[in-house]
Amino acid sequence: MRRVAVFGSTGSVGVSTLDLLARRPDLRVAVLTGGRNVALLARQAVLHGAELAVTAHEECYRPLKEALAGTGIAVAGGPAAVVEAGYVPADWAMSAIVGAAGLAPGFAALSQGKVLALANKESLVTAGPLLLAEARAQGATILPVDSEHSAVFQALRHEDMAAVETVTLTASGGGLRDWPIERLAHATPDEAGRHPNWDMGQRITIDSASMFNKAMEVIEAHEFFGLAPEQVAVLIHPQSLVHALVAFRDGAVMAHLGAPDMRHPIGFALNWPHRADLPVARLDLARAGRLDFSQPDLVRYPALALAQQVMRTGGAAGCVFNAAKEIALDHFIARNIGFLDMAAVVESVLERFDGLSRAPQSLAEVLAIDAEARAQANRVAQARAGKH
Ligand code: NDP
Ligand code: MG
Repeated sequence: MRRVAVFGSTGSVGVSTLDLLARRPDLRVAVLTGGRNVALLARQAVLHGAELAVTAHEECYRPLKEALAGTGIAVAGGPAAVVEAGYVPADWAMSAIVGAAGLAPGFAALSQGKVLALANKESLVTAGPLLLAEARAQGATILPVDSEHSAVFQALRHEDMAAVETVTLTASGGGLRDWPIERLAHATPDEAGRHPNWDMGQRITIDSASMFNKAMEVIEAHEFFGLAPEQVAVLIHPQSLVHALVAFRDGAVMAHLGAPDMRHPIGFALNWPHRADLPVARLDLARAGRLDFSQPDLVRYPALALAQQVMRTGGAAGCVFNAAKEIALDHFIARNIGFLDMAAVVESVLERFDGLSRAPQSLAEVLAIDAEARAQANRVAQARAGKH
């Protein structure tokens, strides 16, 4: 029986993944990892008959152990235990931890030489070349799960990469899309944390409002598909029905459409290389009526300009960008800094970071750069705190 592991099972993508797995008695859920939501992790582990449940936090180990007492399910806790879980045999693993914390477990899961379904975009942004090289070395396959990247991947099936001119990722524009620009500085985490079309975790939802999410995805596409910076474009598309478009040298454009439901890209990765039934709403274009597109405004969304800078710099820039963004987001959620300060913090850290264009050569180097960028971002954010 095919065995699967879900990293970040208690999150938005994790729950959608388990929803699909519950309909697949032919697959065995071997490993689940979560964070602080111990009650949900324990329920999931029992419901899916997992062999091992891991919380990423040492202090959550005991409550998890108690919740699973007498079930026969093995329990572990702490960041190292999450990475260890990557070495438990599994034919298919979902990487759905949020943030750079998902990087090391994903690397570990590649050692299986099987399939890694990658929702954790931070892995490609912080360490794209290393991650792809590891997959090649281990004979493993990485399948993109970010909806736009799954869409591109599907549009590129049986196509020659040399024939690709551009790839366009669509963006809803997030929860603050229609706000006047002068109001943005005063947006609260609650306001930025409401998404018009997608139901996602809090962090990625705020990143959608600032377009840091799209900036990450541009870098993700550049890394995963080997595209030049000028080959990756973004269009605002409020309906979120077209997920991505691939334009070819002969003038043809292949677009991927579908209802905004993560169970499509997750299910595509689960069924790959085949297609099979998925419980997602069917697209009804007559009902949708119209599809709108517009150019994003780089003044409103400075994160998109930063993504271009990161791709052109290469080296450690993606890692620094992501780490600084994660810290800036922490400070915004804690209401220490304003909505627009997030981009200012990231820009400042990128400007001053020593050795930005030098590429890290190992996972350990990536983690060291990540830690240094976080420390610098904390200093910059603290200096701005209270001034918004
Ligand atoms: P959520 O915040 O909903 O869930 C994150 C998961 O990671 C939870 O299981 C959480 O545990 C766990 N987690 C949090 N911190 C840590 C840590 N330090 N170490 C280990 N595990 C941790 O995130 P999403 O599901 O929204 O997103 C997951 C990833 O997928 C992100 O990289 C995101 O960018 C990407 N993605 C998400 C999409 C979506 O629709 N949500 C779409 C495309 C990509 P707990 O909650 O128990 O603390
Ligand atoms: Mg996406």
